[in-house]
Amino acid sequence: MPLSERELQEIHAELEDRRKKLLIAAKAQLNSDMGLDRNEMADENDLASSEYLLSFELRLRDREKYLLRKIEDAIDRIEKGEYGICEVCDEDISIGRLKARPVTTMCIRCKEEQERKEKQYVDK
Ligand SMILES: [Zn+2]
Repeated sequence: MPLSERELQEIHAELEDRRKKLLIAAKAQLNSDMGLDRNEMADENDLASSEYLLSFELRLRDREKYLLRKIEDAIDRIEKGEYGICEVCDEDISIGRLKARPVTTMCIRCKEEQERKEKQYVDK
């Protein structure tokens, strides 16, 4: 069953929230790495500036970059109307799964299948 408009909006808001928190946390980390005072930290208005974001994103760590990309991809899929569809089998992903893991691109069956294959690979 496809997601309702309201469910999509909720997930969109959740993704935006995660994105913002990730950027704020990464920025705080970056500032502490550089030994800056908290008072010198950028506020949310600075984070909204795309030029600032661009230079900043380049300096994010790999894990943060990866997470951020997944979040942005999910937002992108919502905007394109492709959200909530499994990228492997084209079936709808369950709402429970999307709420628990909004960045997911696979239904539970395909995900389990993938994990099973990865495990086999690791075991060899
Ligand atoms: Zn699937």
